Amino acid sequence: MATLHLLGTGAAFSDAARTTTMLAVSGPASTVVIDCGGDVVRWLLAHELDLDRIEALVVTHEHADHVSGFPLMMERLWLAGRRRPLDVYGIAPAVEQVRRLHDAFDTSEWPGYPEVRYHEVPLEEGAPVFRSDDWEITATPGCHAVPVTGLRIVDLHGGGSVAYSADTEPCSTIEHLAAGADVLVHEATGSGPGHTGVLDAAQIASRAGVRHLRLVHIAPNGDLEGAVIEARRVFADITIGADGDILPF
Ligand SMILES: [Zn+2]
Ligand SMILES: [Zn+2]
Repeated sequence: MATLHLLGTGAAFSDAARTTTMLAVSGPASTVVIDCGGDVVRWLLAHELDLDRIEALVVTHEHADHVSGFPLMMERLWLAGRRRPLDVYGIAPAVEQVRRLHDAFDTSEWPGYPEVRYHEVPLEEGAPVFRSDDWEITATPGCHAVPVTGLRIVDLHGGGSVAYSADTEPCSTIEHLAAGADVLVHEATGSGPGHTGVLDAAQIASRAGVRHLRLVHIAPNGDLEGAVIEARRVFADITIGADGDILPF
């Protein structure tokens, strides 16, 4: 069975209990990290995930709270003894941002530093990200201030699936991405340009027919608990995500 790890569940600004929204999925052979706006290695260690089993990093968009931790992630993987290459996947502006951040540091003299291999994903519905022994991952554009993709991750062993909205307004493409998923990890920063409120997230979960909705990208604004109670009239199985959450799927 595959496992979803919520490494962080905060918005770009959140409270002391949350770091930026970052996820990982782990299976029998590998772990995939999704977004790295904070100190992702600290949270991978907290989840007891083997750093050498990280197969890939997938980035959803170019914003700092989703990519700015990458140079530190690579430094810490290298210090931990990782030598094999790391594959980085995302749409062109996201991958270019990761490359610029990484190249701001000269690692050319660091012995055995892992090769970083960048892979561009097309900005279109259902675009393939990659397929491996454990996973099939596809990307679909959302609606945000900059180009962004949500992700659908299928566990090729058990058949379970996770959809992740990334940062988005309520968006029909993300609803299609989530159709029938076991878990929908949807942002709930709040209603407004580029983001989604709890009730809209619940409506998307209901129309997409997912099993469970887990809210992430939480900002310290308003009565979230109250909004969730209200939204359960639309979709019953909602939980507010917390850093450290682990969900089998
Ligand atoms: Zn964003
Ligand atoms: Zn964000």
